[in-house]
Amino acid sequence: MKLSLIGGYKLKLYEHESKRIFEQGGIPIPKQYGVVHSVDEVNDLNLEFPVMAKAAVLTGGRGKAGGVKKLTSLEEAKEFTAKLLKLRIKEHPVEMVFFEEAVEEQGSCYIGVTTDPKSFNIVLIASASGGVDIEEIARTQPDAIIRKEIPNNALILQYTIKEEVMSELSQQLHLSPEQKEELSLIVDKIYRIFQNTDAKLCEINPVIITQDSVVAADAKIVLDDNGLYRQSKLLEDLGITSRRHDIAEPTNNEKKAYKLKYPYIDLLDPNIEKENEYLYVGLVPGGAGYGIFSIDEVVKIGKEFFNNKVVPINFMDSGGGPSQNKVANMFHLLMDYPITDVIITSRFGGISSCDVFIRGLIQALRDRYRNKQRIIPIYGRMVGTDLPSAKNFLEKAKIETPKALEMMEIVVGNEKIMADIIKEGIKKGFEVKKEVFS
Ligand code: GDP
Ligand code: MN
Repeated sequence: MKLSLIGGYKLKLYEHESKRIFEQGGIPIPKQYGVVHSVDEVNDLNLEFPVMAKAAVLTGGRGKAGGVKKLTSLEEAKEFTAKLLKLRIKEHPVEMVFFEEAVEEQGSCYIGVTTDPKSFNIVLIASASGGVDIEEIARTQPDAIIRKEIPNNALILQYTIKEEVMSELSQQLHLSPEQKEELSLIVDKIYRIFQNTDAKLCEINPVIITQDSVVAADAKIVLDDNGLYRQSKLLEDLGITSRRHDIAEPTNNEKKAYKLKYPYIDLLDPNIEKENEYLYVGLVPGGAGYGIFSIDEVVKIGKEFFNNKVVPINFMDSGGGPSQNKVANMFHLLMDYPITDVIITSRFGGISSCDVFIRGLIQALRDRYRNKQRIIPIYGRMVGTDLPSAKNFLEKAKIETPKALEMMEIVVGNEKIMADIIKEGIKKGFEVKKEVFS
């Protein structure tokens, strides 16, 4: 299995996925009934009540937001599922509902393993105040948090460190020796899972302590994208085939881009209502650095000259040496996207060829013209590798298919700096937009 990897990102697992990993690693979890995408599917789960139903979204705080409920009948389960599927939790639309056995709670606590961004050490975090927002506890009652740094990235949690944590915890929670022993095993196992999965975070909040056992009632695993190359088995077991967005599911544009194997990030919620007096600028830059520069520059020029009414809509990177088809697809993606008013592009041919770039761009415009698809103004510059042949091709193309290329203006060479190109592109974008609306 291949995943397109962009450095520094994380892959969040859903609770039911995290629980599968926990279960495989020997951590006790409640009986799992499964996940549904619609009310009808609830019938097929053979629920034995009481059950817990939870919104399956990649964010915490579901309990507070009304996304978690104990249910006692099929009727109630369907009703709550219908309600959840209409809910948004911190911007995440609920598209799945997850069902598991409800466990009888005597007490609860928090157990987590993560890394300290300052020391790069692994840290084991525990608290007898389980079930609630741990960041909130850390802020308001820092003493309620037990925190131990693990030196040297030890593969197995040292006994002494674990014992320190366990004795504090069991005192505060009044655990029986059996409960303490079970919780202690969970601490060992979550640490091992953290190491084995190259995780950024493994967390159980809450661990529920029942009369005769200790159970992970919630589960959260965040994987490190940089470690995914070692986790193909895990990803395959869970059926994860594409990268996940940092805060939510990928947008449609992002999914398309991942399929075509180039980094792309939407900067706006694709469902926003466009405002007429604003100009929405799509960016096809020549490289990631250029991409970031372009975003900043569009905002800056918008502030200085256009009354702050200019919005960059995406980050994109072609990677070194994209094919002509890939370049064409990058332009198609932004022209298919109804939010885009104008595209600003740049090819600074170092590794990549200006010739391939201009052929890709012109291919996209000709295809769209032929197929009567939407064409928007494209403004940009190319300079660098293969410029002479690129220039030739461009000049010929303009004579051959003037109508298809009417909206495109590409400056050849570097007599203009990119900041000026961006400014002119924005101006042109506004002019075209005005024509449409007047
Ligand atoms: P979160 O709010 O997104 O972290 O979702 P959780 O899965 O932690 O659920 C919220 C709260 O519901 C938890 O903190 C518990 O208090 C409670 N809860 C979850 N599962 C169970 C369960 O099986 N039994 C009981 N009694 N309470 C549960
Ligand atoms: Mn929780």
